[in-house]
Amino acid sequence: MRMLIMGAPGAGKGTQAGAIAEHYGIPAISTGDMFRTNIKNGTELGQKVKSIMDAGDLVPDELTDAIVADRLNQDDAAEGFLLDGYPRNMHQVQSLDEYLTEHGQALDAVVSLDVDPQLLTERLLKRAQIEGRSDDNEETIRNRMEVYTDLTQPLLDHYEKAGLLITVDGVGEIDAVRERVLAALDDKTSNAKG
Ligand code: ADP
Repeated sequence: MRMLIMGAPGAGKGTQAGAIAEHYGIPAISTGDMFRTNIKNGTELGQKVKSIMDAGDLVPDELTDAIVADRLNQDDAAEGFLLDGYPRNMHQVQSLDEYLTEHGQALDAVVSLDVDPQLLTERLLKRAQIEGRSDDNEETIRNRMEVYTDLTQPLLDHYEKAGLLITVDGVGEIDAVRERVLAALDDKTSNAKG
């Protein structure tokens, strides 16, 4: 299985990605987590991306594409992966397509978690109190939402046209949402096999 999970900030991508990846025995690969690890470890990449992430802007494509390609080249991703938070704009879609074509691979499904915008901000502000992520403040959240609407949301159309999109209601208990996602994926992949 080669999959993407998409959704606005606060939609629960990271939470669901872990459970779905575990179900399929594939790695969940989160660009946000990779960047945060680099910041925590004080790497050169971390130093480059810290202020960008704190502002809620997108890290430049060349850095993001490179970190994803490196990760996909690792052995554990050879048979499948679930990408969380990538691609986020049309350029990244093209980079990923090129990578997959070069490796004789293709995506099987793109899951979009659908959550009411009002609820998203509430979730993120609540998470700010629990996790203390430096980009979970009101101003940065507003910008991340705008970036999502302007640059990332249009990708849903693209994947819909490619016949890959599965939209799942992301509101409810974590377990209930996970079951919804797994049921929808089962349905889609068994149909695809005919
Ligand atoms: P969220 O979806 O809640 O914003 P993420 O952990 O996915 O959380 O992303 C956090 C930040 O990491 C983004 O605001 C952005 O600065 C950076 N980032 C993550 N993925 C990408 C990407 N594919 N391209 C550019 N920047 C990214």
